[in-house]
Amino acid sequence: MRPIIFALAVVLFSAAANAQPSKTFDMYIVDTEGGHAVLFVSPTGETLLEDAGNPGGRDTDRIMEVIKAAGVKQIDHMIITHYHVDHVGGLEDLASRIEIKHYIDHGATVEQPEQVRGFQEKYAALYSKVKHTVAKPGDKIPLGPVDVTVVTSGKQVIKKPLPGGGIPNPACAEFKVRDDSDTQAENMESVGAVYTFGKYRSVDLGDFTYNLEEKLMCPVNPIGHVSLFLTSHHGINQSNSPALVHGLAPEVAIMHNSSRKGGALTTMNALWSSPGLQDLWQLHWAYSAGLEFNTPGLFIANLEDPATAAGVISGAIPAGFGGVGGGRGGRGASGAPAAPGGFGGGPGGASGGGRGGPAGGRGGSGAGRGGAAAGGHTGQAFYIKVSASADGSFTVTNTRNNFSKTYHQTTIR
Ligand SMILES: [Zn+2]
Repeated sequence: MRPIIFALAVVLFSAAANAQPSKTFDMYIVDTEGGHAVLFVSPTGETLLEDAGNPGGRDTDRIMEVIKAAGVKQIDHMIITHYHVDHVGGLEDLASRIEIKHYIDHGATVEQPEQVRGFQEKYAALYSKVKHTVAKPGDKIPLGPVDVTVVTSGKQVIKKPLPGGGIPNPACAEFKVRDDSDTQAENMESVGAVYTFGKYRSVDLGDFTYNLEEKLMCPVNPIGHVSLFLTSHHGINQSNSPALVHGLAPEVAIMHNSSRKGGALTTMNALWSSPGLQDLWQLHWAYSAGLEFNTPGLFIANLEDPATAAGVISGAIPAGFGGVGGGRGGRGASGAPAAPGGFGGGPGGASGGGRGGPAGGRGGSGAGRGGAAAGGHTGQAFYIKVSASADGSFTVTNTRNNFSKTYHQTTIR
């Protein structure tokens, strides 16, 4: 009798062990106020960070906070998409706080003077001590069971389709080449990558630009349809053509904007009209998108000056609304936009004091011009987390209100 009971116990134990959910591929979009810093953690613990946000310590603190929350002890791979200050400004500081074992970039800068003066020299000192790769489209970055394929680098784009890619892109029919003489050359060099974990696929192209999106996506889309799209270039109007967005046809988009950078109407139009898009998540309320185009507050991670936002929603659009670099509304006494503490709880922070100060002209808001000064708010900031399973389902969480939503794979790959 005893051996049978023992055998049964083993079977039951195994069944219980198998019932444990398998580990997820996680992505953390850090609030760097219109900069870029995204942490990826594979189900087996390998780590990759794309960019390091702005200088000054604020963004580095926020990246380290996320690294701690994710239980990460080292960065196995660091992608430097390009050398603008909102992407590499915080790198030196970050490298002094956590071990970075491998740097990946598009090659030497194509801009002189550099936005971060002397950066190439300091950067060389960092990568010369560890592994360094100049990426080419088609390169793979080892990240456990996650396939990471470089699709853009140094203005070159991938030609060989990924599995599930190589499909016609009907959105190319409407594409019109733009005058991009106001677009800084470094943006065009951006290292972009596609992350595939089973049936889940996400894309992050850094600040890759409009005309090059056609080169990547037309007439044949080499990437296929994706689960999740991190908007290019913070959501500004120098990127995010319908040829890119509608071609990828993401189930979910996340925009790493700040309140006054990104959320351009052209981008918002491309996103909201994208076939199959279920939700847009934003790091910030975007003034340039106004009431009509911002996603519902539930999906917005940072609402740092709610009184100003409320004024925009409830009142007529004031003259000068929306310019880049305008003054900020005062902070509430509590200093926090809204305390976390469970989805469904009331907002915790007092509202801000004044309205935004005098702003620049309307229409400048969407631009942001890659290298603008850091700006934005200091103090507590909230990130967005994505946890993906190999079956293609994934959960997005807004850490401000702890609202989560799970998406079940619907794209055919
Ligand atoms: Zn940028």
